[in-house]
Amino acid sequence: MLYDHGPETHANRGAGDMDGSVQLEMRYGASNYAPLPVTIVRGKGVYLWDDGGRRYVDMMGAYSAASFGHSHPRLVQALTDQARQLDTVSRAYFNDRLGVFLARACRLTGMDLALPMNSGAEAVETALKAARKWAYKVKGVPDGRAEIIVCDGNFHGRTIAIVGFSSVAQYRDGFGPFPPGFRSVPFGDAAALRAAITPNTAAFLVEPIQGEGGIIVPPSGYLAEVAHICREHDVLLICDEIQSGLGRTGKLLACQHDGVTPDAVTLGKALGGGLLPVSLFLARREVMRVFSPGDHGSTFGGNPIAAAVGLAALDTLIEEGLVERSARLGAHLLARLRAIENPVIREVRGCGLFAGVELDRDSASAATVATQLLRAGVLTKDTHRNTIRFAPPLIIEETQIDWVTDRVAEVLNELARADAHP
Ligand SMILES: *Cc1c(COP(=O)(O)O)cnc(C)c1O
Repeated sequence: MLYDHGPETHANRGAGDMDGSVQLEMRYGASNYAPLPVTIVRGKGVYLWDDGGRRYVDMMGAYSAASFGHSHPRLVQALTDQARQLDTVSRAYFNDRLGVFLARACRLTGMDLALPMNSGAEAVETALKAARKWAYKVKGVPDGRAEIIVCDGNFHGRTIAIVGFSSVAQYRDGFGPFPPGFRSVPFGDAAALRAAITPNTAAFLVEPIQGEGGIIVPPSGYLAEVAHICREHDVLLICDEIQSGLGRTGKLLACQHDGVTPDAVTLGKALGGGLLPVSLFLARREVMRVFSPGDHGSTFGGNPIAAAVGLAALDTLIEEGLVERSARLGAHLLARLRAIENPVIREVRGCGLFAGVELDRDSASAATVATQLLRAGVLTKDTHRNTIRFAPPLIIEETQIDWVTDRVAEVLNELARADAHP
């Protein structure tokens, strides 16, 4: 059921026609999210249902965690089989699932070694630790002086270190002091990276396509040039593929569009099949070798259930041809979105089943459009730069894309009409 409590603020919490759980969430939950006014109770494939039995197409895909659709039978099977057989035992012992998973992930991505964590932010933190230690132990940077270069508009998670190098003021405000040792350069500008590198630079951390930043696709050839610059200066290239990886952009890894093999990669989101958090930091041997027993770890990282689901997710991705499907249907989605003629659209960007429609800020707010699309049966969400994001499950059908893009055209037309005749 859709309920109406106006803009989602503390002041009007408790208003409207909400079920018990929503009221309890508003009463007892921290308000670090502002959900759209809908309560999801069931999911299957690309569809989600609310508590009134209304069906929606999930074009949000849980920020790209739901790439396989909801409750994919094979992944649910892997989860339940493993949960019955062996759950968490910690890394104090070997288990019979982890090695198979790590081997599959390394062979698929071309990396030598992998370190399992849970959330994406943890995988990025692992990357930062590895890069710094590599700088001291291998590159020979003086102790305490290592620098990591990141990009303006980045999103790498929410820990103190990570938000410390975010360019979004709200992510940082009130959370300092932050760890030093980071500097930021414009995304898509290889010359700026070259100019920022010093003898103490350990790594360049970059999203091949910026997701939360608004589905920003860099100029073609950018990553190849960046890889060249990094190699020239003995700087590690770390690609954060937590959102862009695993087929989202029509390649297994988004960096492959530029033919680049980075020194290290982070994966997460879809790696858990939408069922549980699973992340990996993968790297060349020389980088990963800096970790010795006791240096780093995670209680749940690499647990047998995570490993079983992660392995099933990778197998499903390949065996169901979802990477190629993302390339093919992504081109269709982009063509359909670009065909919408409407003055409120400033730009349509994307790659594979990863698209953003940027609205003209003066005439429409992406948050309003997301709410209108919800009423039309399409789940999306706005991102920072007044952009509506589309990252549906990779199993989506062409007819479903057509239905969704018709709804998008209608909602935007409505907006443009209201604009013309206020
Ligand atoms: C979502 C995301 C993260 C953080 O993942 P969490 O699981 O939310 O911690 C890191 N990097 C990128 C590129 C992301 O999109």
